[in-house]
Order: sequence, then C-alpha cells, then structure tokens
Amino acid sequence: MTTLGEAVADARARFSAAGFADAAIEARILIGGLLELSSTQVFVGGDREIDAASVAKIEDAVARRLKREPVHRILGKREFHGLDFLLSKETLEPRPDTEVLVDSVLDEARQFAGDRDIRILDVGTGTGAIILALLDGLPSATGIGSDISVDALKTAAENARRLGLDRRFQAVESHWFDKIDGCFDIIVSNPPYICSDVIPDLDPEVRDFDPMAALDGGADGLTAYREIADRAGEFLAADGCVALEIGFDQKHAVIELFEAEGFNLLLARKDYSENDRVLIFAKSVVDAAKQKKKLGIPKEAG
Ligand code: GLN
Repeated sequence: MTTLGEAVADARARFSAAGFADAAIEARILIGGLLELSSTQVFVGGDREIDAASVAKIEDAVARRLKREPVHRILGKREFHGLDFLLSKETLEPRPDTEVLVDSVLDEARQFAGDRDIRILDVGTGTGAIILALLDGLPSATGIGSDISVDALKTAAENARRLGLDRRFQAVESHWFDKIDGCFDIIVSNPPYICSDVIPDLDPEVRDFDPMAALDGGADGLTAYREIADRAGEFLAADGCVALEIGFDQKHAVIELFEAEGFNLLLARKDYSENDRVLIFAKSVVDAAKQKKKLGIPKEAG
C-alpha cells in the first residue's frame, strides 16, 4: 500500500532532481488536484492510503510533468481571480499577473457601475478568464468573449456555464473585430505579445504547451495591439475604455500606438513582479481628462 505522504514525497524528490524550483508545492498541487483533495487535506493527510488506480494516475501525471507539461495543464483547470477555469488545447493558461488587469478594470468600471449596465468585449478570450472574472465582479454587466479558436470558445462557454455566468456571456468566433457588432463600455484583451524570435527561448512549459496563437505577437510583438488600436474606437462608447495586458517592455510602444489612433492613457499598472503589465486607454483627449478627474488620478499617473 502507498500513502499520500509517500506519493507526495516521491513526486517532490523527482521534481527536485529535475531542477524544478517549486518541487514541493507542485507535488502537492498536482497530487491534491488528481485526488480532489484540498491543500489542507494534503498537508494533514499523509497517512491516507491511496488505491492502485490513484497510484497509476499519479505516476502518469508525474511523468507528464517531468516532460515539462505544467501542473495545471495536466489537471485541465486552474484557479484565476478566485474562480475555477477549465483549460483546453487552444487556451492560454491564465496567469496570476493577469489578475492585475481584472482588478484594474473592476476599479475603473465601478466608477460608472451605478449609472448603467456595462457592456464588455474581451478580444481573444481563450478560457474566458478575464471577462468571466469581470462579469462575476460586476453583477449587472454583460459581455462578449471573442476568439478565432473554436476550441477556446467552447471552453469559454463551458466555463461561463459552470460559473453560472452564461446568461450574461456570449462566445463569438471572430478574427479580432471582424465579426463583432455593437457598442461596448470596456474592451479588454490579453493578446499574444511575444516577439516571434523570442519564442524559441521561452520556458518549455510555455513554448510547448501554451497555444502559439495566444503567444506569438509577430516580428515586434505588437501586431495584435495594432489591430486593436486600429479598430477599437469603432466599438467603444464615448466614455468607454480599452484595457490591455502588455509585455514587460512594451509600455511605451503600446502607448505610442494608441495615442496615434486618438486614445489617451488613463492608467498604467505593474504586475506582482513590478513589471509594467496593464494599460487602460480612453477614446479621446477630452474623455481621458474627464475620466482622470472623475477617478482623481493626477495628470502624470502611469
Ligand atoms: N504572459 C504570457 C507569458 O509571458 C504571455 C501571454 C501573452 O502573450 N499574452 O508567458
């Protein structure tokens, strides 16, 4: 008989030997996830006996992790902003840093939440993590998650259903704005933003398991931002905003692109590692000035 404690110790030792920095945490999350045990149950349940089928399942998962497949990809789900999201082949695994985008938009949206029912568009929605976390935080909001991937849209729709948000969420197959109709208060996106020639140097966990369409931002990493800067104005309410995740070194380039299209920076935020990660733009100089006043943001913020 194998105990839970033995299984965790074995996985931890093999992850350590493979050089994984968070071997102990990964072993606990992986095995806890496979056996559907809470982290507390894994901590205190070392003596729990596990059956042969579970041992085989753990062995298979540990072998996958040793081939660099990320833990949450193996489990097929990941928590984001306190909600559980299913992953699939063509969805980017939601990252904690993207929660900063969600929190920034929630702060922004709550400024006018009392006034009207907010409409949100998430371009390149993937799992739906961003828009569904926003809909969860804004009970009267509705929105569209668009993606070019049918697999991703299926996953986003299923996530909406599991989270009880499906009545306020619609998944739309679209290349950027091609099939989008309507007017939105908030357009949000975490588009692909990695330069094509940097992709080979990414960690194998990202390079080999996240979908390339969600990572590759073209030669200079800015292709998606150009598409969004070019078209977002057509779909944005007069006092609406565009909220974006960006690469750590893209702040100035993305601001320049959006300013060239008549947008103004409302706010910029850093992620948990102090890298520039979030930019929010308003449609025009007038709107930006008005909203900054409303938010009490000093002129030079960001
Ligand atoms: N943040 C992801 C990474 O660096 C990339 C996501 C993206 O391109 N939008 O792995």
